[in-house]
Amino acid sequence: MTQFQAPSQKKLKDISLYINGEFVKSNSQETFENINPFTNEPINHIAAGDAADIDAAVAAAKRAFHGEWGKMKLDERLDYVYKIGDLIEEHSEEIAVLESYDTGLPISQTRKMIARSAKNFRFYAEMVKSHLYGEAYQVDDEFINYSVRKPVGVAGLITPWNAPFMLETWKIAPALATGNTVVLKPAEWSPLSANRIAEVINEAGLPDGVFNVVHGYGETAGAALVRHPDVPLISFTGETTTGSEIMKNGADALKQFSMELGGKSPIIIFDDADVERALDACTWGVFSFNGERCTANSRVYLHEDIADDFIKKLKERVDRIRVGDPMDPNTQVGPLVHRNHYDNVKGYLELAEQEGCEVYSGHVPAEHSRGNFVPPTLLLNADQHMRVVQEEIFGPVIAVMTFKDEDEVIEKANDVRYGLAGYVWTKDMQRGHRVAQAIDAGMLWVNSQNVRDLRTPFGGSKHSGIGREGGFYAFEFYTETQIIHVAMKDHYIPQLGK
Ligand code: NAD
Repeated sequence: MTQFQAPSQKKLKDISLYINGEFVKSNSQETFENINPFTNEPINHIAAGDAADIDAAVAAAKRAFHGEWGKMKLDERLDYVYKIGDLIEEHSEEIAVLESYDTGLPISQTRKMIARSAKNFRFYAEMVKSHLYGEAYQVDDEFINYSVRKPVGVAGLITPWNAPFMLETWKIAPALATGNTVVLKPAEWSPLSANRIAEVINEAGLPDGVFNVVHGYGETAGAALVRHPDVPLISFTGETTTGSEIMKNGADALKQFSMELGGKSPIIIFDDADVERALDACTWGVFSFNGERCTANSRVYLHEDIADDFIKKLKERVDRIRVGDPMDPNTQVGPLVHRNHYDNVKGYLELAEQEGCEVYSGHVPAEHSRGNFVPPTLLLNADQHMRVVQEEIFGPVIAVMTFKDEDEVIEKANDVRYGLAGYVWTKDMQRGHRVAQAIDAGMLWVNSQNVRDLRTPFGGSKHSGIGREGGFYAFEFYTETQIIHVAMKDHYIPQLGK
């Protein structure tokens, strides 16, 4: 691991697009400012790509797909994928620092995320080598039919600003390992680590055009990528409304979409639960990553017999959570990514009061007044019909509610438009399975925090997503299945007009 000096409030070099193996300015020469969420001072300027840059990147990716990358032997291709993982590991401290500097995520948490990002590449290299194969269908002695899985072409990847490096690599690794080429459009509020992945891939020596990054706004660069006729795949992670807009814009070109969208996930704590562990999981699940976490347990349902005690303990945790400089290894909650998002989350706290909640917040040290800090917050006395219970706030905020019995809590847990994740805490394992299976969500954890195994499917139901990422599920999206029918003898063919 190389040693890296933290930027400590200094400006960083400006960032270019990465197209066809070169770092270039945008065609329009336009840039946008990148802001540090801890100080609200500028970090650097980012090249603002638009449709012309997307055209150039897609053309380069298409050439690479039909050229060197497409013709490359499997082992050679996978060696590149392993190499990317190795280089991420080698530069992991530097990447973690950039990520925290850019997003405000605590450094202790970005360090872990970057380590997992390196694993994404190794995992998919191994998956493709050992598990990407077709099937054969013997039809009597007449036919042998077999399927092959082929890369699709240019994959358009559009990513959000929360956990940006992790989420980018989660898409890039399977896209490249299966043999596609990539145009990445990262979020405009977190461009630093997306640029670093371009540098890493450049260092790994992938052929020109295999991987491209076009920074820019969603409505210009993102929309141009979605509309582009030479991009058959769009993998998107972001807000539900953006996902819906993207699907409309790509409909004419009949794109394939993978949609990882918003969430408002419940954590249900029964009266027989291990209260201390449930408290750890509940607190971590909503306040880690500054609450900017798609699978955050942002609604807690407490059995009424344990509610008072649990709320008292939650308040004590909120009082003690260390809010501060994201670069400080002791910090547990940092500033939100951008002033606009901070205003949005603060707006929800005001709304919560108007809707009748008691808003109970932790503390932000006075010296951090320049940053986008929202302290860990409980919305007590929340009720199912409130907007703060129905809508995704995406900050360190949890709505606290109570329940009497199993049927009631299942109904309440399902009474939102989202269905990404859910968490159930009980020592009665029959009930644990029963309740988990009754929750309309893509991913459930029983007596567990959000622990992920890369082999398992990741994704949501209802308005939280379409399709699944992870494990074999990525093959469904990043490869096209082709079936070849071969006659082994002269079978009957109708002789029209003979
Ligand atoms: P967002 O939807 O605002 O932006 C995501 C990306 O889409 C950005 O790169 C943006 O520039 C781009 N974009 C915006 N408009 C576009 C358009 N018209 N065409 C093409 N691209 C466009 O989301 P965000 O605020 O960056 O991220 C937070 C959201 O992401 C939350 O809702 C969160 O729950 C969700 N999320 C979901 C998952 C998951 O796996 N389900 C994971 C992380 C985040």
